[in-house]
Amino acid sequence: GRPLVAGVAGWPIAHSRSPVLFDHWFGATGIAGRYVPLAIRPERFAEVYRALPHAGFRGINVTIPHKLDALRLADEATEAARAIGAANMICFAEDGRIVADNTDAYGFIENLRHAEPGWRPETGPALVLGAGGAARAILHGLLEAGVPEIRLANRSRDKAEGLADAFGPRVACVDWDARAAAGAGAMLVVNATSLGMTGKPALEMPLDAVPDGALVNDIVYVPLETPLLAAARRRGLRAVDGLGMLLHQARPAFRAWFGVDPQVDDGLRRACLPGAA
Ligand code: NDP
Repeated sequence: GRPLVAGVAGWPIAHSRSPVLFDHWFGATGIAGRYVPLAIRPERFAEVYRALPHAGFRGINVTIPHKLDALRLADEATEAARAIGAANMICFAEDGRIVADNTDAYGFIENLRHAEPGWRPETGPALVLGAGGAARAILHGLLEAGVPEIRLANRSRDKAEGLADAFGPRVACVDWDARAAAGAGAMLVVNATSLGMTGKPALEMPLDAVPDGALVNDIVYVPLETPLLAAARRRGLRAVDGLGMLLHQARPAFRAWFGVDPQVDDGLRRACLPGAA
């Protein structure tokens, strides 16, 4: 068989937690694999991408700035990758075909399901803040999971309108300034903006209108406890951090390349915490 080798392609790539994550899983599963960071300049991506299967790679994860090129240059794409419009996981088939997938929607939903086993997406509307790349994956995941209605608020309204057009009638745009009021009746509130990240301002999102029993999720994971999650806990709402999305989105890749569905547990969370060695 082929060597047990995969990697993650980005530019830059030094900050990526993925090698730590995969190394933890190699240790936990006993699979003698290798997972390497691949720093690839944008102008060289196409050439390197096509060469990797011949260098023995089973697949790669893809991060900024290559997610669109990885989809465009693939021989095949999954429905999720096409709907989201970007790829984060690539399989190099034995016959040399390049198959592009996107597991961010899966990771997002799996994180909520594992953190809150009682969560039923079909029971009520979701409020999503943000309309960037992550929001696209979240909309796809929520719609597939059966959410009846998504309220979408973004600072730049035109980007939210674009997503609402692309994802159909269950997605309705809300003015950025009306986001707090749009929490009324929402059973899930998601921060898919970069606000609340270390170095960025906090997200201003009063939670008074949000019903008791609602779930609040921040996909930002540096820091783990964002101002939004702290406010949700003070308000007595269920709060889920964003680290689990990062960990769960990697599971399908490990399974596809190495044949085992790995565990997301506290040991893995500790190993992958921001600031961990
Ligand atoms: P993008 O750059 O594609 O989108 C950024 C979003 O944040 C846009 O909606 C943008 O609004 C909004 N935003 C940025 N600054 C402000 C501001 N000052 N006021 C209001 N809105 C603002 O980023 P991504 O979608 O790729 O990522 C978003 C966040 O999610 C990042 O923090 C990233 O780390 C995190 N993430 C976490 C993942 C996980 O696995 N947990 C996976 C992917 C991302 P506008 O359109 O108006 O500019």
